[in-house]
Amino acid sequence: MKIICVGRNYAQHAREMGSELPEEPVLFLKPDSAVLLKRQPLFLPSFSSEVHHEVELLVKINRVGKHIEEHFAYRYYDEVSLGIDFTARDVQAELKKKGLPWEKAKAFDGSAAIGQWVSKSEIAPIPEVSFRLEKNGSIVQKGTGAEMIFSVDRLIAYISRYFTLKKGDVLFTGTPEGVGPVSADDRLKAFLGDQCLLELLVK
Ligand code: MG
Repeated sequence: MKIICVGRNYAQHAREMGSELPEEPVLFLKPDSAVLLKRQPLFLPSFSSEVHHEVELLVKINRVGKHIEEHFAYRYYDEVSLGIDFTARDVQAELKKKGLPWEKAKAFDGSAAIGQWVSKSEIAPIPEVSFRLEKNGSIVQKGTGAEMIFSVDRLIAYISRYFTLKKGDVLFTGTPEGVGPVSADDRLKAFLGDQCLLELLVK
């Protein structure tokens, strides 16, 4: 199983990071060892003093596909969730400055929190879904599927030009604005509409 992540897929987030709007999707991968196991806290890594939350809509790939056409992409996923792309922002800033790959900042153990999966047939079409992240009971990020620069179907078509998609692969579709640091004892909860799909503690 692999995790494919999209960067800068929300205009306001790209602006808050001081990045240009992308002309094509920005992609990076996380290994399966990055998955934060269910009911486990995120243990803050010792190599960073600034780990940020990035709440994201997730889709799970349900069959093998390569060179998928955008208008058939909907056939390749039937479950949706929310996740957090934990990012060691201080490490990422250093790597970006040197033009180096982001893996140390993005793909460390526990950096991919994945919520409970829901069938896409049970929720509104992705452009109409809204989601939010609460930290200690206060809303810190909120977004809607409509704000994505590249839609899920377009992302699947694009990604599958480079990487064969396999059953069980997870796509992190990018984060809306409002990313910020987490500290020990923070409690994070991610909601799709009114449904809490992910809850975790930071240690
Ligand atoms: Mg992200």
